[in-house]
Amino acid sequence: MVNGVLWSSAQMETLRALWAEGVPSKGIAENINDRYGMKLTYVAVNAKAERMQLPKRPRIAARPPEARQGAGVIKARVQRRIQDYQLLPKIPRKSKQPEDFSRAVTLADRRHDQCKWIIGENAAGVALYCGHERGDNKNYCPIHAARERRR
Ligand SMILES: [Zn+2]
Repeated sequence: MVNGVLWSSAQMETLRALWAEGVPSKGIAENINDRYGMKLTYVAVNAKAERMQLPKRPRIAARPPEARQGAGVIKARVQRRIQDYQLLPKIPRKSKQPEDFSRAVTLADRRHDQCKWIIGENAAGVALYCGHERGDNKNYCPIHAARERRR
């Protein structure tokens, strides 16, 4: 008995199987711990594998990525990624509210107290400005001033 851990034959078979699959020692430890309610470390797993004379395994970098982690670890990581996305704050999309052309003016016609927000162009390709009163904002009507702040 080393490190106070007594391995049952079932646990040793699990170790042997996962070791052969290329699961890293940490993943093997987690697997056996989960299954048998133990508290093995990867160091204990490595020591046991050595005592069992399991074949040496290639270094982690030499193995394909999917072999580096036990399936459970990968699953947990994928789950965390999904949660990451779910936790992302909702970014408000730019307003799809149609522009109000009722006061639209060209630059030539725009008065100094009219909103400077370009809402489109006329058939001649000349830019059309919102034309609503600017209110407190220096450049835009309240609606476009709010959009300006969100940009
Ligand atoms: Zn406006």
